[in-house]
Amino acid sequence: MIECELKTSWTQFLEFIENRCSSAEYENWIAPIKLIESSPDEIVLEVPNVFVQEYLLDNFKEVLCNFLPLRGSGEPAIQFQIAASKQTPSAPTIETVEPVSEEPSSFDLKLNPLYTFENFIEGPSNQFVKSAALGVAARPGKSYNPLFIHGGVGLGKTHLLHSIGHYICEHQKKLRIQSITTEAFINDIVDHLRNKSIDKMKRFYRNLDILLVDDIQFLQNRLNFEEEFCNTFESLLNQNKQIVITSDKPPAQLKLSERMVARMEWGLVAHMGVPDLETRVAIIKHKSERRGLDIPNQIAFFIAEHIYNNVRQIEGAINRLSAHSRLLSATLTEDVVEKILSEMFQTNAPNKKISVEGILKSVAAVFEVRISELKGESRHKEIALARQVAMYLAKEMIDDSLMRIAASFGGKTHSTLLHAWKKITDQIQLNETLRRQVQMVRRNIET
Ligand code: ADP
Ligand code: MG
Repeated sequence: MIECELKTSWTQFLEFIENRCSSAEYENWIAPIKLIESSPDEIVLEVPNVFVQEYLLDNFKEVLCNFLPLRGSGEPAIQFQIAASKQTPSAPTIETVEPVSEEPSSFDLKLNPLYTFENFIEGPSNQFVKSAALGVAARPGKSYNPLFIHGGVGLGKTHLLHSIGHYICEHQKKLRIQSITTEAFINDIVDHLRNKSIDKMKRFYRNLDILLVDDIQFLQNRLNFEEEFCNTFESLLNQNKQIVITSDKPPAQLKLSERMVARMEWGLVAHMGVPDLETRVAIIKHKSERRGLDIPNQIAFFIAEHIYNNVRQIEGAINRLSAHSRLLSATLTEDVVEKILSEMFQTNAPNKKISVEGILKSVAAVFEVRISELKGESRHKEIALARQVAMYLAKEMIDDSLMRIAASFGGKTHSTLLHAWKKITDQIQLNETLRRQVQMVRRNIET
């Protein structure tokens, strides 16, 4: 009978893959799948959750196609049922949850103690998002839900997210709150699936009063997990529990399902901008005071002018200055600061398309030689040095093969280029004038 044949085919498939995956993998992912029915043209499998279904298809679809009949779409003829709810995976599920009886010891709340509202410096770029965060912290679930905060790297999204957490812990101790990165949430799902404790995890998350989720962009391309996120979000939103999400992009630009994007756009989407000069200066003053470092206004402005699009980098600069002034007990003048931070300023410069021609032009101007001499063979000391500087900068600043860069210098070899690069790298450590000249050329190229 065909029916029997499909049952046999499934058993044969299981035997086939049992020998091809580890026993733990088999135990965790394959063994829980139950064959419920088989008709002449398809089989019905019961899976404990959607992840098992996706695991099976992601890893063994081709093998399955060899054992089972195919549908018109080329998919193996399998109908899946989810064990608990018997709902199709894509249907929005509003699961009722039992209250958590056990203490969630494995779900400790981790908040960075420095990321508080008090330590967050306000300016025109972040005032709106800060007041939205304060609103949510003061009245969780009652103002904007979810609150979705997006903006570039190092602008204070995680800082604000944790500030909400601290505020609620301090003012409303009874509320159950969890703060988690998207990565950690995914790892949690995987661990609990493995330990067969996924229901415990679901219960924990769906009984929260506040869920803070950092960096949702990492859910992109993790299709297997989107469903669980979405279900958790829906379950919380339906109970008027507060969700706050951060991301590097607005919801519509994330490669996530429409359903997920719709949930995230439901409440308030707030943008975190790049702080303006005054705000950056205020941040520098605040952070340096906390470290016991006295940075004069003029120096704070100098740093703020050079590092403009990432507060984390500003902190890096303060750390360097602090280490330096402690070691050398040097007074912080613009020159000293520039010297210490020069590398940072350079890497922070806007990315312009830089060409060998541009470098040659700038080197020729600063070293007072001709472009043709830089491309030529002259061994005259000044010309040779200028040529080596140009090669050094080309290797540093242009993202291309050494061979191609060398060829643009009138057909030099890549070993000549490497030799020049090494020589200048060593010399700028020792020779202050050369270091300044190189820096000048670099600035001319970048502006
Ligand atoms: P993001 O999550 O947006 O990448 P973070 O929240 O991790 O950025 O912030 C990077 C660093 O910059 C943190 O140490 C944070 O304290 C600091 N920071 C960012 N914005 C501010 C601000 N407005 N006031 C004070 N510190 C800030
Ligand atoms: Mg962050």
